[in-house]
Amino acid sequence: MSQIAENFSHIKTGMLKAALQAGRLPQDVTLVAVSKKQPTDKIYDALNTGHRVFGENRVQDAMTVWSPIKKTYPDIQLHLIGSLQTNKVKEAVSFFDVIETLDREKLVDALADEMRRQNKNIPCFIQVNTGEEPQKSGVSPAGLPGLIAYARQEGLTIQGLMCIPPEQEPSGLYFAFLSKLAAQHGLASLSMGMSGDFEKAIALGATHIRVGTALFGVRTS
Ligand SMILES: *Cc1c(COP(=O)(O)O)cnc(C)c1O
Repeated sequence: MSQIAENFSHIKTGMLKAALQAGRLPQDVTLVAVSKKQPTDKIYDALNTGHRVFGENRVQDAMTVWSPIKKTYPDIQLHLIGSLQTNKVKEAVSFFDVIETLDREKLVDALADEMRRQNKNIPCFIQVNTGEEPQKSGVSPAGLPGLIAYARQEGLTIQGLMCIPPEQEPSGLYFAFLSKLAAQHGLASLSMGMSGDFEKAIALGATHIRVGTALFGVRTS
C-alpha cells in the first residue's frame, strides 16, 4: 500500500469513529481531499484508492494540475476552497463542481451571470468569517442573512456554509456557531474541519471536511 493510501485509510477510520460517536451516519460526511501544492504522483495515489472528491484553492493551479487528470477520470468532483476573484469566475464555473467560497454580492452577480451563460447551476457554500478576522475572507455573521437572500434571489443554489476558524483558538466554538447559522437559514451542508480538527467538526455537524496535510503530507511550496 502506498503511503497516501495508508493516510486515506487512517483518516477514513477517524471519520467513521467520529461520526459513530456523534450518532451520525458515516455516509453523511464527505472527505474533500485538499490537493493544492501537492505533487501529481500523490494525487494519482489518491485516485488509485478510489477517492474522487478534491479541493483546490486557486483556479489557475487547479486547471493546470487537473485538466489532464479529468480526461481519464470524468467522475472527479472538484471543490474550490480558496477565495475567488471576479475575473476568474468564467474559468471557475467551467472547471469546478462546487464553489465553497462565495462571500460577497459582487461575486453573486458574476457567478449568476456566468452560470446562465454556461447553462450550469453549480452549488455554492457561503464562506463565513466566523472569527471576524480583518485579514480573512468570508462574509461577516451580521452580513450573512442579507447575502443568502441576495444569492437566492439571483438564482444561485446555496448548499451550505463554510468557515476557517482563527488559527490560534480552539475551533469548536466556531464550528458550533457555523452549525447554528446554517440551521437558522435552513442550509443542509457545513464545510468545516481540517487536518487538525476534523473529528471535532464532525461531532459538531460537519458534512464536508477539508483535509490536506494529513492525507498528502507537508505542501511543497
Ligand atoms: C489548505 C486548506 C485546507 C487544508 O488544510 P490542512 O491543514 O492541510 O488539512 C482546508 N481548507 C482550506 C480553505 C485550505 O485552504
